[in-house]
Amino acid sequence: MTEAFLHYLWHHQMLGTGLTTTDGQPVVVHRPGELNRDAGPDFFNARVSIGGVEWAGNIEIHLRSSDWKQHHHSSDKAYNSIILHVVYEHDSRIVMENGKEPVTLELKPFIHPSLVANYDALMTPADPQTIPCAKRLPAVPPFIIHSYLDRLTIERIEAKSEVVRRLLNESRGNWEQTCYWLMAHYFGGKVNALPFELLAKATDPRFLARWKDNPRRIEAVLMGQAGFLEGYFEDDYPRQLQADYEALRTGASLSPIGNYLWRFFRIRPSAFPTIRISQFANLLSTTTSLFPTLLEMTDVKAMERFFNCQAADYWDTHYHFDQVTERKSVKRVGRMQADTLIINAWIPLLFVYGEIRGQQRYKEQAINLLQQLPAENNNIIRRFAPVGLIPENAAQSQALIQLYNNYCSCRRCLDCHIGHNIIKQKSS
Ligand code: SF4
Repeated sequence: MTEAFLHYLWHHQMLGTGLTTTDGQPVVVHRPGELNRDAGPDFFNARVSIGGVEWAGNIEIHLRSSDWKQHHHSSDKAYNSIILHVVYEHDSRIVMENGKEPVTLELKPFIHPSLVANYDALMTPADPQTIPCAKRLPAVPPFIIHSYLDRLTIERIEAKSEVVRRLLNESRGNWEQTCYWLMAHYFGGKVNALPFELLAKATDPRFLARWKDNPRRIEAVLMGQAGFLEGYFEDDYPRQLQADYEALRTGASLSPIGNYLWRFFRIRPSAFPTIRISQFANLLSTTTSLFPTLLEMTDVKAMERFFNCQAADYWDTHYHFDQVTERKSVKRVGRMQADTLIINAWIPLLFVYGEIRGQQRYKEQAINLLQQLPAENNNIIRRFAPVGLIPENAAQSQALIQLYNNYCSCRRCLDCHIGHNIIKQKSS
């Protein structure tokens, strides 16, 4: 038994009938109250009848009555207003700061043993290759699981929307600028997201839009702004980029971010910032404004083609300036990287756009795009396979990632709809 589980049982009123206080008065719960996660009593604004008299106020919950003393409530006036002290075990008489005894309800006789057994099963250490409820999950009705996954898809998009809202705030509601910053952020991948974002913020997209269809000039500006064009180069390609950048730099008041910000360690060479900047330059050269271009696309295939941009030919044989590689390979944004950009950058942006503009169709379009995308396959998704949860599309795989990261991995089974159904199994 834990206090969190007691809160849960009280909140959902998963208690037997005939509740009676320790001094024999019948208790009827009209409203369990609102759970308080901050300091102070555990439940606010409850409404209960005790011995036929109706009370409205706060409720404190403990595993044992003696916890009242241990938590120093006996000297705290804030707890004088408690209308009911709910405990799992009544092991000691206690008094409030005003010298009175609180009315106490001991729950132990009113909790069905199967509830405790189901909860214990969820909290028991489990096979690390799957999820903690793996053995119980097959008994959960599929419609409960699927309707919950639909909710989690939205929860995941909303969680990803935080970065959108931050950038939108910084751009003072400029959707084009937000889109450009956001794409840059995700072009950087996990490791170089911040320097990529700083690079985009240091380089006005309207300035870059002058060179539509001229990816090399855009690459010169971005490489220069990234700090990669400082020093002496042997190869013609970086020398030409350097010359282009220097020619533009003074007139346009360009100022590079520090090249020390970029990371090359622990990432695949194909994701090096040099390659990603060249690809990003290529993408920007295809349009003068990203946001309206993407807004028109409702088909994932068209989007994947849009993002399928290629680094300059020079990068076929280089990962760094002046360092030729043994093997030649074209550095194109592949489908997986394009899908990652759509999932992490475009879909949350579209969702927030729909929310702020009050236009549901954009939010639906965002979900529809996720449903068109293939499911991800990573070590989180694979944990659900033994219980038969195999996602059919990215909307479902995103939901499973949200479920695992925010609920299963931290054992928030009491906050999970699947967990709720498991705890109730065989309890009636
Ligand atoms: S959080 Fe939900 S899905 Fe995850 S282990 Fe607990 S009950 Fe199962």
